[in-house]
Amino acid sequence: MKILAIGRNYTAHIEELNNERPDEPVIFTKPETALLQKNAPFYYPDFSSNIHYEVEIVLRICKHGKYIDKKFAHNYFDAIGVGIDFTARDLQDKARAKGLPWDLSKGFNGSAPISKFIDKTEFTDIKNLDFSLKLDGEQKQHGNTSLMLFKFDEIISYISKFIMLKKGDIIFTGTPKGVGPIAIGNKLEAFIENEKLLEVEIK
Ligand code: MG
Repeated sequence: MKILAIGRNYTAHIEELNNERPDEPVIFTKPETALLQKNAPFYYPDFSSNIHYEVEIVLRICKHGKYIDKKFAHNYFDAIGVGIDFTARDLQDKARAKGLPWDLSKGFNGSAPISKFIDKTEFTDIKNLDFSLKLDGEQKQHGNTSLMLFKFDEIISYISKFIMLKKGDIIFTGTPKGVGPIAIGNKLEAFIENEKLLEVEIK
């Protein structure tokens, strides 16, 4: 399986990091070794001193496809979960300043905690889905999928032109505003609507 992700997909988050609004989706990948499942703890690595949480809705791909037309893209994912796109902001800023790739700042071990997946038919409207993140009990991020610049179908269609999607792949769909640093001892909790689906302790 592979992990794909879109950056800069919520206007308010683009503004908080002083980034440019993209004309096309900004796509990056994380290796499979970034996955953290079943509420496993995250161990703060020594190569960064500024790791940020980014809560995101995650799609699970259910069949192979390339050059997927936008109007059929909904057939290619069957379930939704919530995840955190941990980002070593200090490494990312350094890479961005030099025009170098983001890979290490986004793809390090444990940088992709995800919840269980829920069948998408269990949601009333996935185009209007609330999600949020609490740090030590305090809400830090709150988003709604209606505010995405590139919607699920557009993301799937766009990625599949370049990279064939396969069953079991997952896609992180971007973070709303409110990103911030984590510290050892913190507890993160991620929600879809009012249901807590993910918990990560920082060790
Ligand atoms: Mg992100």
